[in-house]
Amino acid sequence: MGWKAMRWSQMHIPTLRTDPADADAPSHRLLLRAGYVRQLMAGHYSLLPLAVRVRAKIVGIIRAEMNRIGAQEFALPALHPREVWERSGRWDVMGEEMFRLKDRKGSDLALGMTHEEIFGTLAAELHSYRQLPQIWYQFQTKFRDEPRAKGGLMRTREFTMKDSYSFDLAAEGLDAAFDRHHDAYVRIFQRLGIPAIPVEASSGAMGGSASTEFMCPAEVGEDLVVHCPSCGYAANIEKAVSRLADADAVDAPGPERPERFGTPGVRTIEDLARGFGAPADRQIKTLVYVLDDALTLVLLRGDHPLSEQKLIDATGATALRPARADEIREALGALPGSLGAVGVTGPRVLADEALRGRRAMFTGANTDDVHLRGVDVARDIAVTAWADLREVAEGEPCARCGTPLEVRKAIEVGHIFKLGYKYADALGIEVLDDKGRRTPVIMGSYGIGVERAMASIIECHHDERGIVWPVSVAPFEVVVTVAQSDDPDTAKAAEDLYADLTSAGVETLIDDRAERPGVKFKDAELVGIPYRLTVGKRGLAEGTVELTPRASSATETLPLAEAVPRLRALLHPQPG
Ligand code: ATP
Ligand code: MG
Repeated sequence: MGWKAMRWSQMHIPTLRTDPADADAPSHRLLLRAGYVRQLMAGHYSLLPLAVRVRAKIVGIIRAEMNRIGAQEFALPALHPREVWERSGRWDVMGEEMFRLKDRKGSDLALGMTHEEIFGTLAAELHSYRQLPQIWYQFQTKFRDEPRAKGGLMRTREFTMKDSYSFDLAAEGLDAAFDRHHDAYVRIFQRLGIPAIPVEASSGAMGGSASTEFMCPAEVGEDLVVHCPSCGYAANIEKAVSRLADADAVDAPGPERPERFGTPGVRTIEDLARGFGAPADRQIKTLVYVLDDALTLVLLRGDHPLSEQKLIDATGATALRPARADEIREALGALPGSLGAVGVTGPRVLADEALRGRRAMFTGANTDDVHLRGVDVARDIAVTAWADLREVAEGEPCARCGTPLEVRKAIEVGHIFKLGYKYADALGIEVLDDKGRRTPVIMGSYGIGVERAMASIIECHHDERGIVWPVSVAPFEVVVTVAQSDDPDTAKAAEDLYADLTSAGVETLIDDRAERPGVKFKDAELVGIPYRLTVGKRGLAEGTVELTPRASSATETLPLAEAVPRLRALLHPQPG
């Protein structure tokens, strides 16, 4: 009896009778309750035998699809020398998210949060265009000191990632590697039972040119996806755009110069709208940020929220924070509530596209309790740079087709990213092209979180009784439940069935515990095994067993002799 067969009585499956406290996400609650994981400390979990079996299935599917696109598997260290991260400039950039330590000689080390630098160092040994393209990958533990580890396996400080890296001679090669990963990811998530949708994502400040996230819609998701139900446009809210509802609105010219008026006690957009006939969409909202130590004014329409990620993307800033009241007072002479950019020449002024060409607008006068009306943005404000800075809201028209957009919560389960030449330049990754010229290599990087995928599968496949694993990732395909394990004939029939299923290549667990049938049924449902075969005294008298699929719970009685062929047909087992 090989690795595919196991006994419940001997496995460590510590199911809990009641829901654990402090587990909000369904996957977190079920992983604990069904005996898959235990927390060691916040953000660090021990995987128990059932979880290890599921993880092996997930890894197997990802590995098969990576190999199918011609990728080669590596295994790199988790502990890295500071020097390599210095070369890319990321020793500083990674900040507090990177775990750092010293060895006995006092050398600085880091625990790897990603492996561009290390794979890049290996790629520096490539020397000819004839060796390209390359796709390299690994399954490896990543360490990230997340500010908020949460949701059980969803966001941890130590997790397995399939990370891959592509190396190409030119942009078209990178495009092809990116597309291959895209297709592989679509197949992977399909096989895992995760209804992931690819969405446009922010490329961040690191100079990447394209970025797609794979998003699993779920209530517990920490990301927001903007989606058009009509044309299929989908983007992370950090990147999403929409058409302005009143894009065609042409403002009346207004006065020749802005007019000051007193606004005692006005502190917010709503205050000004309510008391002074200035609708929010006729106001200019002035936010003050410190971007990499530079005080910056950020202008938006009064009813538009700022997307901080878009601000980062637009400026390339690595550090961003709202300015303090004293910094604002010093630079502008007023407190938030009466701020504006008219006449401001010192600090940089960034304006959202929605303000372009607007006239007869309202804004603060940089004097407490005073505002301006009749502001013509082009005439009155020295805008340093224009950018798309506003966060899209549900119901706004799709930029492509005009249909009202939807906003949904989602879990990021995968991410593919065109890196460009950043690492080639930093690490000296060059090959000789067909004319013998030294040419930098263009890179892409691609990741899937293995345990986050496990949690996401549960988020999509559970009910009030427990987990409902898709067959492709289930820890076992079948559980043979012995209804009366103290009855020798029943026990013997169940053991025979278990042996037959196992030799037919069906991954079977036999529940041979000395427990009441009700307890065994409940545990089997909680653990989520796709099919249950119940062997009981009464049925055996008639030569039958009961088959219960976990998903439907519709029990069917079938002749004992038909059980194995029936399950083989249901499962389509792979050979072996
Ligand atoms: P997030 O925005 O959720 O923090 P990220 O952008 O930092 O994710 P990447 O660096 O692109 O993530 O990592 C690739 C994949 O690794 C993610 O798509 C996700 O599946 C997984 N992942 C990232 N961080 C974690 C974590 N803290 N715990 C578990 N899985 C993670
Ligand atoms: Mg992250």
